[in-house]
Amino acid sequence: MSRCKACDVIMNEFEMRRIDRATGDYSELCSDCLSASNEATREIDSPMQIILDDIVNPFEFLADMEEQ
Ligand SMILES: [Zn+2]
Repeated sequence: MSRCKACDVIMNEFEMRRIDRATGDYSELCSDCLSASNEATREIDSPMQIILDDIVNPFEFLADMEEQ
């Protein structure tokens, strides 16, 4: 029996065996904490995606860049 290292809930077998993609080791997190953690990681890993999400019109954005 193993518990989530973040919220201390008892994990099921699937959760215990899951490997964290970031570390290549057992995640030791329940599904809830893991999805929260993945979300945080994704935002940190791809700041460009956040920038792209903010750009409504990429061509207008590029034109602004060239004017400066
Ligand atoms: Zn948890």
